[in-house]
Formats: sequence, C-alpha cells, structure tokens
Amino acid sequence: MIKVENLSKKYPDKDALKEINVTFPAEETTAIVGPSGSGKSTLLQSLNLLERPTSGQLIIDDLSLDLGQNLSKSQVLEVRKHFGMVFQEKALFTHLTVLHNLTEGPIKVRKISKDQALKKAEELLAQFGMEELADRYPYQLSGGQQQRVAILRALAMEPQYLLLDEPTSALDPELEAQVLRVLRDLAQKETSMIVVTHNMAFARQVADKIVFIDNGAVGYDGKTEDFFNSTDPRIQQFLGAMT
Ligand code: ATP
Ligand code: MG
Repeated sequence: MIKVENLSKKYPDKDALKEINVTFPAEETTAIVGPSGSGKSTLLQSLNLLERPTSGQLIIDDLSLDLGQNLSKSQVLEVRKHFGMVFQEKALFTHLTVLHNLTEGPIKVRKISKDQALKKAEELLAQFGMEELADRYPYQLSGGQQQRVAILRALAMEPQYLLLDEPTSALDPELEAQVLRVLRDLAQKETSMIVVTHNMAFARQVADKIVFIDNGAVGYDGKTEDFFNSTDPRIQQFLGAMT
C-alpha cells in the first residue's frame, strides 16, 4: 500500500499540489484523472521522487518518509526500488534489441544472472504474444509495439507498483487499443498499477478506484463506478468535457 499525506508541491508562481491525501492500494489499479495542468503528472512523479514535493509524508508499506526533509541518496533509491515507470514518450534503448531492452535493467540494476534475465524476458514476450519481436531493434517497431515493449521492460524489473503517465497518448486509436489490451490483462492479474489517463472508457473499465485531481487538489477519491455516476457538478462538468 502506498499512501501520501498532506503532500504539497509549490513552485514559485504556482501551487501544483495542495495537501493531497490519497491511498493507492496494492493489487489494484488506480486511475488518476483530471484536467490538463491539474497536477496529475506531478502527483505520479512525487511517488517515486522524480518530482520532489515541498512537504508531506510518503508511506510505502513499512517505510515512512518526511518529504519536507532533505532525503539521502539511499532513501531515494529505497523508494525507487518499489516502482517501475512507463513514460508517455517511450524511451527504449535504441542500440539494443527488444530482448536486450528487457534484460538490461534486471542484469545491471537488480544483479540477476544473464540466463535468468533472458528466461524472464522470453516469458514476458510469450505471455503477451510478442515473441517474434525479440530480435528487432526499436526503429523496426511500430509506435504501439514500442510502447508495449516499454511496458514489458518496466515489468521485467518486477516492480511492486507500475506507474504509467498517459501511456497511449502518443498513439493512434488502433495502436492505443493494442496497448490498452496489455494494461487490461495486467489489471486482471492484480498488478498494482497507478495510471494517469485521459481515456475515460479505459479508466472506467480497468480502474478499481479513481483519483480526480482538480486544480492541485483531490476532487474525488473513491470507487470507479461512483465517480462515473457522481452528481457532483464539477465531476459532471469534467466528464461532459471529456466525451
Ligand atoms: P497534463 O494533463 O497536461 O499532462 P498534468 O495534470 O499532468 O497536466 P502537471 O504536469 O502535473 O499537470 O502540472 C501541474 C501544474 O504545475 C501545471 O500548472 C504546470 O504548469 C505546473 N508546473 C509543472 N512543472 C513546473 C515547473 N517546473 N515550474 C513551474 N510550474 C510547473
Ligand atoms: Mg501530465
């Protein structure tokens, strides 16, 4: 379980996040939704400390950190061990094949043996029907294929939590559907996922809970169905604008 308490992020001219209190349960999918500029990416990246919040608490299982203090390098690494991240701009290693993109992190960072890493990578590719891509280089893949490899690369590290920031926003509808299928599979396997998305149909289908961020504050935090059936005028306005 991940929890943030009173998390704030202040820029000189902007309070990007204001006293956020949210829990992200393990083995569930949480969708973070909200208008552009509301603070979704800032919140997601605060969890693995890519963004440094100004104040608040970050709790990951038994680990509790005061974000208002200077954190040591080892504390930051300790936090990051729990997360795999997939960015909107897929960033595969261009000089490595698909298979080696999947083995690089486990071998170099997690110190897993080469044989074991290869076995795991082949299993992941097989699991998602992508075996035939193993020996290709990123430039030989479509955008949707690259994005799926980026997701598998994060999974190869066996993170406790998978963080995804609009993983399909750079894709056309057909490729988006391919990637969403992979994420739906993962959600069904009870992967712990936190995904920022503008795709409300997807959020409604896969998310166990919704966190609606509105102007740096939590506008809703609760069950998915209740969000989509909400009579709150602000939520209705947001959902109306999205369809
Ligand atoms: P989008 O849907 O467009 O990706 P978002 O909800 O992810 O938006 P954030 O990227 O989290 O929004 O940004 C939240 C707010 O913080 C925005 O108003 C943004 O302009 C502001 N912001 C982000 N980075 C900085 C920065 N380095 N300096 C000042 N303001 C920033
Ligand atoms: Mg964003």
